[in-house]
Amino acid sequence: MIFHVLTIFPEFFRGPFEHGVVARGAKNGLLQIRIHNLRDWTSDFHKTVDDRPFGGGEGMVLKAQPIFEAAETVLPERDRTKQRIALLSAHGPLFDQRAARRLLEFEEVLLICGRYEGVDERVSEHLADEEISIGDYVLSGGELAAAVVVDAVARLIPGVLGNEESSQRESFCGPGGDAEAESGQAGILDCPHYTRPAVFRGWSVPEVLLGGNHAEIRKWRNRAAMEKTRRLRADLLAERAPGRTPERE
Ligand code: SAH
Repeated sequence: MIFHVLTIFPEFFRGPFEHGVVARGAKNGLLQIRIHNLRDWTSDFHKTVDDRPFGGGEGMVLKAQPIFEAAETVLPERDRTKQRIALLSAHGPLFDQRAARRLLEFEEVLLICGRYEGVDERVSEHLADEEISIGDYVLSGGELAAAVVVDAVARLIPGVLGNEESSQRESFCGPGGDAEAESGQAGILDCPHYTRPAVFRGWSVPEVLLGGNHAEIRKWRNRAAMEKTRRLRADLLAERAPGRTPERE
């Protein structure tokens, strides 16, 4: 899978993709991340990417022309079944695990990072297939949001997570794992995890995890995941189809 990121701050991405599973996935050829500098598609001396808003008002707006031309260069043969162009924006539907799984269907994803007051609306209207927001708050640029999207999608690519890590049984996966996630279920939270020591400052790890009874451990994890979901994210349970058993197998 190829991720393209269009930004006026290419250096921003020096850090985020050079660590952990995403970096390893790239090194192993399971994914590619290509960062494109929007200023490469300007023709004036100052490499201008922004201009004042029509109608007046504060701030500057990213111009349509460099963004369209960049997208046309990066994805010269546009195939909407295989490629997805997404504009990072506070206006989009919220990005969640299901949205991450949907992006996984594409071979190439181009993420356009806005800045300043935002992006000329014609990018949303006539270029992007979708807008993506990572939350109901306003960031100063789309770069952090793009890093979030790449990370969340990249770790779902088969092989990116090692044996010791698995996306099959994670938060927002349903009891049925991937199959259920694909069916549109909201999923529940992951169970709590503990590591050594068994007693830390007087707080003990649940007894069942210290024994080797895997059936009991599985049951405990299911119960604990449900309890945690009920306590912290009851909204996820409300979203579930009625009549479904919420326990994981
Ligand atoms: N004037 C805009 C905010 C622009 S912030 C408004 O009020 O909605 C500048 C850029 O940051 C945006 O163009 C977008 O690319 C990015 N951005 C801001 N908040 C975001 C969010 N919640 N999710 C994704 N991108 C966001």
